[in-house]
Amino acid sequence: MYLNDLEKYKMEIIEKIRSTGIKATTQRRAVYCALSALGHASADEVAVAVRSDYPAITVATIYRVLDSFCEVGLISKLSTPSGKMQYDITAHDHAHIIDKSGTISDYDDDVLNEMISNYFEGKTVNGAKINSVKVQLFIA
Ligand SMILES: [Zn+2]
Repeated sequence: MYLNDLEKYKMEIIEKIRSTGIKATTQRRAVYCALSALGHASADEVAVAVRSDYPAITVATIYRVLDSFCEVGLISKLSTPSGKMQYDITAHDHAHIIDKSGTISDYDDDVLNEMISNYFEGKTVNGAKINSVKVQLFIA
């Protein structure tokens, strides 16, 4: 399913992964390509997509690859209202719009991001510095 995309954007994907300082193995390229196509997805959804083209890749490997991508800042994670962890191909700060069906889409608003950043700058909560703020907008 994603094999054609993987070949088409092979060099772009390799450069993107390598830019974070990790090797662009076949498994990592396949996982990145699948999440690129999905946008926001659970590890299980990524696993289904990857394994349709690469049945030899274990689900455990896919989880490890996704977490390694998060560690190097290539992708990000978000927690949905249902408590399910989703991986996000977009790593930079951005808000999310969640509709009634639970579909998640990105909401980029530089003014909102700057306002939130300025508001919390230098503030602490329970004596701790705030690392990040995640905004989720729920629409009817
Ligand atoms: Zn997102």
